[in-house]
Amino acid sequence: MVKILQKDEGGLREISKPVPIGNIDTPRIQKIIADMKKAMHGEDDAVAIAAPQIGVLLRIFIVSGKVFLSKEEIAKKEEIKNLPPDLVFINPELLRCSKKEKWTEEGCLSVRWLYGEVRRSEKATVRAYDESGKLFTRGASGILAQVFQHEIEHLDGKLFTDKARNIQNIPPEKNLTKRR
Ligand code: ZN
Repeated sequence: MVKILQKDEGGLREISKPVPIGNIDTPRIQKIIADMKKAMHGEDDAVAIAAPQIGVLLRIFIVSGKVFLSKEEIAKKEEIKNLPPDLVFINPELLRCSKKEKWTEEGCLSVRWLYGEVRRSEKATVRAYDESGKLFTRGASGILAQVFQHEIEHLDGKLFTDKARNIQNIPPEKNLTKRR
């Protein structure tokens, strides 16, 4: 089992280092990616994870294919068989963020069980390397744009609770769709 660190543990407050591009295809980095996927998929409702959350201070985050499903589809777990593939972002760079922002509800695998509203750009574009070392650019709106912003903050040692409003403690039995 891969442990997901909680807010005061490990290096969650540190700035993670870039992955040397030539190292992406090494067993060490591939193992980190596999461990991150394992940790993420071990949580019913997680939609993304950043490397520092499993104690690795490298600039990597992964978005679950679940992010493309509706809350209703996620709730019906047994129906999730043909999930879209997970997306791996190595050394991500936020190229553009829309000026238009929105307060959106957020939670975090490393800040259980708190939820709050965070002001996020509605659209965001990220450039990163994938797990095979290929550079790509991905634009997003809605939840995926929110995830990009949340995960990149993890790589800079920030947590959503640093700037969230209306923070509430909602235990898991009451809420199964909002952790990431
Ligand atoms: Zn998080």
